[in-house]
Amino acid sequence: MIPESMMRLAEEGDAEAQYKVGIAYCLGHDGVAVDYGEAAAWFRKAVDLGFLPAKRELGIMHLTGDGVEVDAAKAYAYLSEAAKAMDPNAMYHLALMYEQGVGVEADLYEAVKLLAYAAGVGYPGAEEEAERVNDIITMERVKALKSRPLLNLEVSEVDVMAACCQPMFDDMVNETVVVMDTFAGPQLIGEDEDGNDLTLTECPHCGKPVRWVPRDKRY
Ligand SMILES: [Zn+2]
Repeated sequence: MIPESMMRLAEEGDAEAQYKVGIAYCLGHDGVAVDYGEAAAWFRKAVDLGFLPAKRELGIMHLTGDGVEVDAAKAYAYLSEAAKAMDPNAMYHLALMYEQGVGVEADLYEAVKLLAYAAGVGYPGAEEEAERVNDIITMERVKALKSRPLLNLEVSEVDVMAACCQPMFDDMVNETVVVMDTFAGPQLIGEDEDGNDLTLTECPHCGKPVRWVPRDKRY
């Protein structure tokens, strides 16, 4: 049973109560039959009042098609709003959309970032997923790097895109040189002889300057 007091609050327009009634219809315990259509209707009321957890739930439903039509664009809109408010469950689902290119252009780096945030607040499974997607990135970047000529030291806001010389290529594949998002923006970080982080503006091997290029540059 949904408590009468909660139902009354929901009917009177209390967004949190509407959300809770929606959850009760999703979970279906305490003698409440699972009814996704009913759940979605209550979530939508709470969404109209700007209640973020309801946006997250409705977003997930638009991914699965439970109680509503499958609509990746709506799912993206709701989940990204909730994710901006640091809702870890929303971040988790949004990350998988970024990984698979559902409702948004695929972006593995964005996926890992969202999963890392979700993992940081202990969202179950997020850390494993972050590692899994990160492994895909590593595989793809090594493959991409190998297909490019040694020419210039080219760097985007998330990765080293192309090497200037063989020693730098090896540094990149071994990840002793990486792009890191710092307070001052993305920077190319290497190591000095003592293993301390060193911001690079040129290649320590051949001296070519770092050139910033767009991420989608074609070679
Ligand atoms: Zn070089």
